Amino acid sequence: MPASISAQSYYQATANRKVTAESLHGDVSADVCIIGAGYTGLSAALELAQAGFKCVVLEAHTIGFGASGRNGGQVCTGFSPGQGPLDAQLGKADAKRAFDMAEEAKHLIEERIAAHKISCDLTWGYLHCILKPHLYKHLEEYAADFDALGYAGNTLLSKSELEEKLDTKVYYGALRESRAGHLHPLNYCLGLAAAAKKAGAVIYENAEVTEIDTGAKPFAKTANGKVTAKFMVLAGNAYLGNLVKPLYGRIMPVGSYIIATEPLGENRAKSLIRDNEAVANTNFIIDYFRRSSDNRMIFGGRASYSTLEPGNLAEYMRPRMTAVYPQLKDVKIDYAWGGFIAITSNRIPDCGRLTPTTYYAHGYSGQGVALAGLYGKLMAEAIRGQAERFDLFARVKHLPFPGGGLRTPMLVAAMMYYRIRDALA
Ligand SMILES: Cc1cc2nc3c(=O)[nH]c(=O)nc-3n(C[C@H](O)[C@H](O)[C@H](O)COP(=O)(O)OP(=O)(O)OC[C@H]3O[C@@H](n4cnc5c(N)ncnc54)[C@H](O)[C@@H]3O)c2cc1C
Repeated sequence: MPASISAQSYYQATANRKVTAESLHGDVSADVCIIGAGYTGLSAALELAQAGFKCVVLEAHTIGFGASGRNGGQVCTGFSPGQGPLDAQLGKADAKRAFDMAEEAKHLIEERIAAHKISCDLTWGYLHCILKPHLYKHLEEYAADFDALGYAGNTLLSKSELEEKLDTKVYYGALRESRAGHLHPLNYCLGLAAAAKKAGAVIYENAEVTEIDTGAKPFAKTANGKVTAKFMVLAGNAYLGNLVKPLYGRIMPVGSYIIATEPLGENRAKSLIRDNEAVANTNFIIDYFRRSSDNRMIFGGRASYSTLEPGNLAEYMRPRMTAVYPQLKDVKIDYAWGGFIAITSNRIPDCGRLTPTTYYAHGYSGQGVALAGLYGKLMAEAIRGQAERFDLFARVKHLPFPGGGLRTPMLVAAMMYYRIRDALA
């Protein structure tokens, strides 16, 4: 890493609150033990603590260490593969209910920000941009699908209309959503943690779970302690590794990388994205970008199925950004970082019960900023005895990824396929 690039992510450098949490020492009992302090785990903890359950959250590193503190901050609509695979698996009526719950996920963010006074720069407006003229018909289909689902507030933009909003010539049009947007992901996560703590949840940091039991009296052990509970919630997502054998193989970790430029000044930042929307292209391997509240360009993309982080991340990512904005070729990159997105084979999130006491949800496939909060809430509902909404999602079937030595090479091959598909689209 060049010395000029901060070892911190931009989000860590601008985290607006440090929630204090201790490490676990000794034996503790709880109603619910939650593994992972990202959106999934903290959302479940907040709901359960508010309902009077004694919750303990065990986080291997620090709150928001995983994807929740590293992501692009884009608050997306629906599910990563669109409605088609949900229609096929659940039938139209339940797939529509699933979409409505994904809408609820966005409202939940808004409600929690208001209820718990979370300062995280939530901004509405999202542009899905196309890189080839013939893809405009896909945008029209996309807009028609949204209309059919009763999801309003979307506008199709021609190339020239889009060029008034974004100072780039690379796109041929866009679909603008008024009810998707962006936020500061780590500050949102820290705000959730503070709210969960205030409601009575206990969060332990530097408390990596090294052994779990998912039986009738589940427990989780760390190096220095043990939590015994009535229920266990597994919310480690891509970072859980192979701690829980039945979950390993249901998701695949994919590396994604982000850079933050130096502050560009308000006028220059506004010239790049006039109305401060979140922006993404419609490729399978997407670029996603937006302005930060201090007028930097936050530009993310790439995907590494090998999970190996490229050397000199800033210079690895810069060409992605300058392909869209050549005028940024000389700007300084202050921060570069990466993290793991958990994808499922069909890109629909995966949730269920491993045993009657142990719940899990993961694999939001790049759309977890909104969806992880919802799935955390649904697990809390199920533990409280209202499992109907959770069970709708638990019905979705997922093909496991191959295990063993073939796991990574097969995904690297799959990645090549999608790169070629994006180039030919
Ligand atoms: C670079 C990047 C960009 C992304 N961009 C977007 C985006 O723009 N929009 C969007 O919607 N989604 C995006 N995502 C995905 C989104 O961030 C995730 O879907 C979401 O944060 C998942 O939340 P989570 O709580 O399930 O998992 P995480 O936030 O990953 O949290 C899991 C936590 O569990 C902890 N943990 C794991 N194992 C253990 C253990 N054994 N003991 C104790 N703790 C453990 C980890 O340390 C971690 O903190 C992106 C992800 C990345 C990495």
